Amino acid sequence: MKALQYRSIGSAPEVVDVPTPVPGPGEVLLRVSAAGVCHSDQFIMDLPADQYVYGLPLTLGHEGAGVVAAVGEGVRGLSVGESVLVYGPWGCGRCYPCSRGEENYCENAAEQGIRPPGLGAPGAMAEYMIVDDARHLVPLGDLDPVTSVPLTDAGLTPYHAIKRTLPQLVPGSTAVVIGVGGLGHVAVQILRAITPSLVIALDTSEDKVDLARTMGAHFGFITGGGDEAMSTIEEEIRSLSGGRGATAVFDFVGVQTTTDLASRLVAVGGEISVVGVGRGTVNVGFFSTPWESSARAPYWGSRPELMEVLELAKAGRIRVEVERFTLDKAPAAYERLRVGTLRGRAVITPLVLKLTAQESPDLREGEGAS
Ligand code: NAD
Ligand code: ZN
Repeated sequence: MKALQYRSIGSAPEVVDVPTPVPGPGEVLLRVSAAGVCHSDQFIMDLPADQYVYGLPLTLGHEGAGVVAAVGEGVRGLSVGESVLVYGPWGCGRCYPCSRGEENYCENAAEQGIRPPGLGAPGAMAEYMIVDDARHLVPLGDLDPVTSVPLTDAGLTPYHAIKRTLPQLVPGSTAVVIGVGGLGHVAVQILRAITPSLVIALDTSEDKVDLARTMGAHFGFITGGGDEAMSTIEEEIRSLSGGRGATAVFDFVGVQTTTDLASRLVAVGGEISVVGVGRGTVNVGFFSTPWESSARAPYWGSRPELMEVLELAKAGRIRVEVERFTLDKAPAAYERLRVGTLRGRAVITPLVLKLTAQESPDLREGEGAS
């Protein structure tokens, strides 16, 4: 079968032929229908050899959707042909966090060598993938796998971050979203769907700010225009929030300039969630951040939260903006991610190997970008 692999440190991912896997006891084989392209893939591919811990070659793709192709010995309750989403942060299933469905915070995963697909285990950017346990599959029903697959991370991760802050997001509150890419554009919609907050989105280009407004942000600002322009934007945000500042800041970039910005925007008692992995830090302290403000760095989300995100999608409350690419064109999707020109999420569709642009107009842009 074909798979998109990261094969050597510093190289671009390549489409290669690898053996089609066979499900072992307890495992499930999926024919992959869709796989999402996440900035975290870029992050790990940019790591130097001494920090890279995901194994080589690595089949990418930690957002996966597929149809059940075969089940291993002992697997019950799944039928061949069923359409499913993959819950990615695999855990042991037995520790306290796993028992609560919070496999993203499994206490034993590292020790037992359990790695998420695409981040250690072979991922979803292939014609077939192995899922280690039926517990990690959520029925998709009639939902479109291509527009649903990003819900497993671009939906789940912001949902988890927002849910932690939910008690604060009361009427009159203000939520700021920094970075309106794959995660950020879903975050804006989740905030609108489950909170009464005023939603303000920030990104570095007009296109992204425009996407935020389309997705329901009340206000959007283009950042990165120098100190004077930034202080005008900060004043405006403070004024929009009734002079209080942001009740919650969700930073989907996480570099030092954005975590510093979050620290300046946050209100007394407000909460900063650093979701982006840009290595920026928030210096919480009596003289550096407003009283009672706090910061956290959440990771992915829980199994029940994925089901809740799916309910929001089924109810039409959130929708992922996607750009489609065939598996052959997947390297082009990563190139677009790198230069920052994707709108929403890029999704790889391994099932559709040779769609013409006429059959799928969405393919045109992806194909043209190679
Ligand atoms: P993306 O590339 O789709 O989106 C990032 C957005 O941030 C883009 O729109 C970009 O224009 C914007 N941006 C970049 N620099 C900016 C700046 N200085 N100010 C404002 N906006 C800026 O990425 P994504 O896939 O949505 O991922 C977002 C981040 O979240 C990445 O760092 C990714 O690794 C991380 N991530 C974390 C988790 C987690 O569990 N914590 C899960 C998934 C992704
Ligand atoms: Zn991700």
